[in-house]
Amino acid sequence: MTAKIIDGKALSHKLRQDFKREADELRLRGINPGLAVILVGDNPASRVYVGNKVRACEECGVHSSSHVLPVDTSEAELLQLIAKLNADDTVHGILVQLPMPAHIDVRRVLEAIDVDKDVDGFHLYNVGALATGNTIFPPCTPYGVQLLLETTGIDVAGQNAVIVGASNIVGKPMALMLLQKEATVTVCHAKTRDLAQHTILADILIVAAGKPGLIVPQMVRRGAVVIDVGINRLPDGRIVGDVDFEGVKKKASWITPVPGGVGPMTVTMLIKNTLSSAHRRGGEGAGIGSMGWDAPTVQGH
Ligand code: NAD
Repeated sequence: MTAKIIDGKALSHKLRQDFKREADELRLRGINPGLAVILVGDNPASRVYVGNKVRACEECGVHSSSHVLPVDTSEAELLQLIAKLNADDTVHGILVQLPMPAHIDVRRVLEAIDVDKDVDGFHLYNVGALATGNTIFPPCTPYGVQLLLETTGIDVAGQNAVIVGASNIVGKPMALMLLQKEATVTVCHAKTRDLAQHTILADILIVAAGKPGLIVPQMVRRGAVVIDVGINRLPDGRIVGDVDFEGVKKKASWITPVPGGVGPMTVTMLIKNTLSSAHRRGGEGAGIGSMGWDAPTVQGH
């Protein structure tokens, strides 16, 4: 068996064309969708991510403003900027690029963002909404994975979904989304004993650990769908995921490449959330749970 490739780059391209039309339609109605991106410090990877986000905005006709602040910016100054952007009607989404310098309390910063502009979905309110299946802004990376899974045509309900990685930005929200879609979800992390005994049961295996080569073919069930969220730069400069792609693609039914799988989708879903926010501002679907990802309720929950 050779797995079919889930092409995140192609899906992302198609979605961005749709989003451009959506942004044009919004403008015709007098709403110019806008995203503000804040970067504190000069982390090179963060600069690349911010650049990608600004470019994606341009591609989709979404107005963007970048606020690049020096590394010694105080928390108070940052909170002031967020308050200004919260009050600015031309801004529909606010994103603070993580990680932040150590002297800044990330939680306090994320909680300062207006929940209606929290397009990353990291505010506690939106995290809680996700847990109860009423999300407005699904976090971008798991949201992208969700759409990639949909392209396989596989119904997630009743499937064994195993997630490797339990971070707040990928593993945990991914688990909540798949539970909402009625999958049977297992979450593994660095303290999990015998990882393979869990991964081998996966119909859907999602890996977000940041460890190149973590998942080898012996850990994968024949016919599984494998989504590799990992992005790792090897000493020779190559970018790879967490999955041994060449080996695992011989056992999986579907697999995402790295690069070209989840990565482009993450940025694309940020645009989707910004447009959702602009629609909400336009009076459509105002109210929690009425926009964004349509989350069905799990029976009995
Ligand atoms: P993180 O470091 O915050 O969390 C990693 C998680 O993996 C933790 O829960 C940890 O316990 C678990 N883990 C680590 N080693 C493990 C092991 N040997 N076995 C099982 N679990 C293990 O990382 P993160 O921010 O969630 O990112 C994870 C990876 O995904 C990174 O490579 C990151 O670059 C990538 N990422 C990609 C995108 C994208 O758009 N494609 C977005 C976010 C993160």
